Amino acid sequence: MRLAIFDELRFGIVSSDGTTITDVTDALASAHDPDPIGAGWWVRLCRDFAALRPRLEAAVKNGRPKPLSAVTLRAPALNPGKIVACASNYAAHVAEMAEVQKRVGSTGQQWLHEFDVFLKAPSSIVGPSDAVVLPPQPVAERKEIHHEGELTVVIGRGGADISAKDALAHILGYTIGLDMTVRGDGDRSRRKSYDTFTPIGPWIVTADEVGDPHALRITLSVDGEVRQDVDTATMTTKIPEIIAYASSVMRLYPGDVVMTGAPPGVAQVRDGNVIETTITRIGSMRTPVRAAR
Ligand code: MN
Repeated sequence: MRLAIFDELRFGIVSSDGTTITDVTDALASAHDPDPIGAGWWVRLCRDFAALRPRLEAAVKNGRPKPLSAVTLRAPALNPGKIVACASNYAAHVAEMAEVQKRVGSTGQQWLHEFDVFLKAPSSIVGPSDAVVLPPQPVAERKEIHHEGELTVVIGRGGADISAKDALAHILGYTIGLDMTVRGDGDRSRRKSYDTFTPIGPWIVTADEVGDPHALRITLSVDGEVRQDVDTATMTTKIPEIIAYASSVMRLYPGDVVMTGAPPGVAQVRDGNVIETTITRIGSMRTPVRAAR
């Protein structure tokens, strides 16, 4: 099933061919609230999806599908408590970063090259219909701003100390995420948390429909030129271990977002570029890049 948020934060199911969407907001168990601050309905949906699923399926059957082109898709992540992101999770990306750090004059300390998790600000999330806006100060300082196209997990049932064996059962589904990053020294969370630095979308494909998350291909192009192209099988720390490790540090809540790390091929984006990110079995997201006005 493909779960989407659209227009005034309505909740919809996208058809399996990706051409139509059916509004199933009225089938939610709890009152819908279009105010993004009141995201409780979304958190409850993430937590209770398995129980709600038959109602949602019935609502799709009895509902009226609209062309997807008639709506505006929003990020399928509404005020998550946190974005957990993985560092150094593809060997070929770790290898390329030595060169990047030399070029941008970063001290490139050893701990930056080891797998770990860090946090991005949830306020950096934008949707699949939005642009990345280049922040004025790093641009004025001639910093490189890079794309990182990542397989992104949305947590269903939360928990602390989740075992790797149980981890996949805690996942609602998968989506596409961009972890936009200002290169250089300075706190990593700050460099990745500028407004618009986390485009997410176009929808969540539920875990049952994705199957093995390590049998996917991520492809990212900029203005039609392929820059990142990787099999998720080559991830160093696999998703069950990521969930186990992250939840041993911080309790995961329904709706939390987990970004699984940058594939090799990170590179600079500039005003006017268009980033196209595709993950097999999930879909594609087109993200324009523009300077701040
Ligand atoms: Mn990243």
